[in-house]
Amino acid sequence: MENNNKTALVTGASRGIGKACALRLAECGYNVAVNYASNDAKAAETVAEIEKLGRKAAAFKADTSDLKAVQGMFREVVKSFSGIDVLVNNAGVVDDAYLLMINEDSLTRSLDINIKGYFHCAQQAALKMIKTGGRIINISSVSSVLAVEGQGVYSATKGAVNSMTATLAKELAPRKITVNAIAPGFIETEMINSIPEEKREEYLKAVPLGRFGSAREVADMVAAMCSDAFNYVTGQVIVLDGGLSL
Ligand code: NAP
Repeated sequence: MENNNKTALVTGASRGIGKACALRLAECGYNVAVNYASNDAKAAETVAEIEKLGRKAAAFKADTSDLKAVQGMFREVVKSFSGIDVLVNNAGVVDDAYLLMINEDSLTRSLDINIKGYFHCAQQAALKMIKTGGRIINISSVSSVLAVEGQGVYSATKGAVNSMTATLAKELAPRKITVNAIAPGFIETEMINSIPEEKREEYLKAVPLGRFGSAREVADMVAAMCSDAFNYVTGQVIVLDGGLSL
């Protein structure tokens, strides 16, 4: 596909789902700003793969939980790409712990990255999209609608993502900015690959479609949400979980 002269910023795009989204959007014709936290080499790989597809790309190191860093990143992105049309709020962390084992530092980190980080980026993106319109896509999780023991903190953060999606959709609709979310189930990434084999088997049995999803399948939904098929859809959470939550 031809370059559509539009820019997408994907947070947490050095690996996993974020990287798949960045590559998929490049295939759709977007130039892509690749955000990441610390892994310079992996971010550079994502940039190189996007450039191979014939699109412009650059890496932006910024901790999304740090407002000043996020403001600086958006300034730089606009300077390099001249605008932002799509934000994929993807950078997130999971640190499972049962209630009585929750550690204060881990709790703060999860709230800061998974909730505050999404607000920081949505706010900066809205400022840039206010005259042109745009799309904000929040990566939530099936854990926002399905109780999983040990995921109290994670599911609370993703529940917050679902509620912010609805509220921001209403607030930003007059500006022609849509806000939607994707709630993936088990997706094959480093997160899932680190689960012991017997646990993986147990999780697989819980998925009606009998397999884990791929990062590419989440990216395909992101691409769909950027297409005309989603022109009239806003404030929705699409559960992409092979039936796990049914
Ligand atoms: P992942 O493989 O662990 O990758 C995380 C990405 O986020 C990396 O690019 C990392 O950058 C970046 N990141 C982490 N903290 C950051 C911060 N503070 N600021 C900027 N970037 C940061 O994760 P994933 O499995 O692809 O998950 C991506 C999203 O999907 C998360 O929101 C997660 O909750 C959600 N999700 C995942 C699954 C699943 O099964 N995998 C299921 C449901 C939902 P560095 O490489 O620099 O560290």
